[in-house]
Amino acid sequence: KLYRQSLTFLAQTASLDFVNKRLISILIVEDEEAIRSGLIDVFVFHGYDVDGAATGPEGLKKALTGKFDLILLDIMLPGMDGYEICNEIRARDRDQPIIMLTARTSDEDIIQGLKLGADDYVAKPFSIQQLLLRVEAVLRRSQIGIEQAKSIELNNEVHIDTENLSGHN
Ligand code: CA
Repeated sequence: KLYRQSLTFLAQTASLDFVNKRLISILIVEDEEAIRSGLIDVFVFHGYDVDGAATGPEGLKKALTGKFDLILLDIMLPGMDGYEICNEIRARDRDQPIIMLTARTSDEDIIQGLKLGADDYVAKPFSIQQLLLRVEAVLRRSQIGIEQAKSIELNNEVHIDTENLSGHN
């Protein structure tokens, strides 16, 4: 019985450990070098796996080829603006979490960004604290489904282990 309990415990901790180990990945598409590198530093410091892009086309390419948990997308970018990138991403993946970074606070910009499917927006100049909280909120919303699926999977594994062991008792 003790053997069964410890094995179940091991299965649980091993699975939880595996779930916790994956870093959350963020793509930062921002042409202003100081802002981009500043944001990369902040998110790396807070434990995220971060990649950056300095132009519209580079951002779109990375967004479509990489698998990011969240994309921070500036609007005014060389080559292709954030609206177009958002649109292209949405056409391929309607669930990709996106937060727009807008330099302007006019209703029109915000409405257009949200219409194109951005999950949220942060107006520049923004506080890092506020940006981090909004990122966490969008990730929480987008990952509820994933976490639920994982915990069901985890429970099933533990359940199957227990049953197999009971059979031998
Ligand atoms: Ca810009």
